[in-house]
Amino acid sequence: MNIILFGAPGAGKGTQAEKLIEHLKLPHLSTGNIFRENIKANTPLGLKVKSIMDQGKLVPDETVVELVADELNHQIYDDGVIFDGFPRTVAQAEALDTYLQSRGKNVDAFITLSVPEEELIRRILSRGQGRSDDTREGIQTRLNVYHEETAPVLNHYNAKGIVKVIDGTGSIDEIFGRILQSLS
Ligand code: AMP
Repeated sequence: MNIILFGAPGAGKGTQAEKLIEHLKLPHLSTGNIFRENIKANTPLGLKVKSIMDQGKLVPDETVVELVADELNHQIYDDGVIFDGFPRTVAQAEALDTYLQSRGKNVDAFITLSVPEEELIRRILSRGQGRSDDTREGIQTRLNVYHEETAPVLNHYNAKGIVKVIDGTGSIDEIFGRILQSLS
């Protein structure tokens, strides 16, 4: 089963992804995590994306799509995957669809976590992970980028009838319960 976990920054995608991978025994593919690991290890990819990420902007589609296509070639993803933070543009979504279709697969569920904007900002500021893009300025840029470039991805999958809108407020377990119910 190929699942996309979608939502604005701070909506809880990472937290819910951790619970879903455990429950469904599927691997997690977080482009943000892969970029952060590359930055930590000072790889050429890390050097390329660091300042873009720090500003809260999007890494170019070409770079992201190439990274995901390489990653998906690993056998661990053969039975499905939970995408977290990808696709973030319609171009990325189209590239993913083409990739999966060429292998006789598709996106089975698109789960979007809905959280009011004030709550998103409050959560990011209190997450305290010391992420270098978690400044007020960085958060505002990421929210703007989300509205302008990422939100249209929802319409792209809505047209395919696989979107599940989940109330992303409440406790972590309440939200997770809603996600499982939407998948059953
Ligand atoms: P995340 O951990 O998903 O919040 O991602 C952190 C940052 O990594 C984003 O603000 C972007 O700069 C970059 N990033 C992660 N995933 C993508 C993607 N699919 N497309 C473009 N940039 C991305």
